[in-house]
Amino acid sequence: MSVKRLLGLDTRADRYTYEVDPAVGYVSSQKVADQWVATTCGYCSVGCGISIGVRNGRAVSVRGIPDHPVNRGLLCPKGLSEHHTIHATGRARYPLLRQSNGSMARVSWDDALATMATRCRDIQDRYGRESIGVISTGQLVTEEFYALGKLVQLGIGTRHYDGNTTLCMSTAVAGYKRSFGSDGPPGAYADLEVADVILLIGANIAENHPILCWRLQQNPNRTVIVVDPRVTKTAMMADVHLPIRPRSDLALINGLIHVAIEPPPASRRCATPFATTRPSASPSSPA
Ligand code: SF4
Repeated sequence: MSVKRLLGLDTRADRYTYEVDPAVGYVSSQKVADQWVATTCGYCSVGCGISIGVRNGRAVSVRGIPDHPVNRGLLCPKGLSEHHTIHATGRARYPLLRQSNGSMARVSWDDALATMATRCRDIQDRYGRESIGVISTGQLVTEEFYALGKLVQLGIGTRHYDGNTTLCMSTAVAGYKRSFGSDGPPGAYADLEVADVILLIGANIAENHPILCWRLQQNPNRTVIVVDPRVTKTAMMADVHLPIRPRSDLALINGLIHVAIEPPPASRRCATPFATTRPSASPSSPA
């Protein structure tokens, strides 16, 4: 801290000036952009539409895109601070190569790529092509994911390629395929605004997905049931909170299925209704 700041002579007034933005009114002068670039927030999978305000080639501000079908102009705190991460200190901006003494030294991209290729080839010469595996991230967009897949399979020549999208979603994928026949959640964000009853199991959308929570709150006729051992913010806004014991969610769901399908109504036309579901649900009868 400078002496002027210590003595209170430097009030940093230049940092706290404001200007009038034609779209939103008063804003900090630091956030005034000379152009806005539309993109998608990459922090979580909700996929909010976001405009990045750029001044002199530097991101200085963000705004939600007003007519975007997901967030309709709103952003959560993570999205609202997205421009800070672009220029944050400590980001990996250039390649570093570990030296023989253990320290990391900056190298050119050409050197980094050549070193990586040489070392990958060396490993594959010694242990075979399949000795290298690659794990990617859910933060890649579809086109990047595709390009990386091609690089791994055709360039590096290994089939050991996976991403956290598979690792963390594999149980959900198995459930979707078993229940609905395809890998994809059957619901849509718009359902939250019109459904009569919304059952949330272990999901704390008030804190983890605030934009979806906001859309749920647009539904005036909702009845929200939250199943969660924790008294989360979402549980606090529920009409019914079921604080079940940890790991008893499967028993609860099977019990609900059992109540729904037993006894089978005579009106059901299917010859063997719920033939595969009944055996797994019946041990959880609440009776
Ligand atoms: S909910 Fe927040 S983090 Fe997720 S996409 Fe929207 S703004 Fe980004």
